[in-house]
Amino acid sequence: MREAFAALGLTLPACLPGEPEDCGHGDARDHYASYLGALQGHVESLIEASFAGDSDALDEVYRARARHRAIMDDVLG
Ligand SMILES: [Zn+2]
Repeated sequence: MREAFAALGLTLPACLPGEPEDCGHGDARDHYASYLGALQGHVESLIEASFAGDSDALDEVYRARARHRAIMDDVLG
């Protein structure tokens, strides 16, 4: 998860339980759920901005995303 954020130039705080900046707000699962929501929203805004005005390219991005979701559905059972 941290690597995914880092790849986008973002740094997650080390605030999970037991980490140096432990924020005390929820367990690791709660943190991952919020990180995932934030990551999805951020990436979607980047995609929308990158392909603004090019609906064919945007369609291709969404088709690729659908294919990857299907792959992940298989991985996750
Ligand atoms: Zn935290």
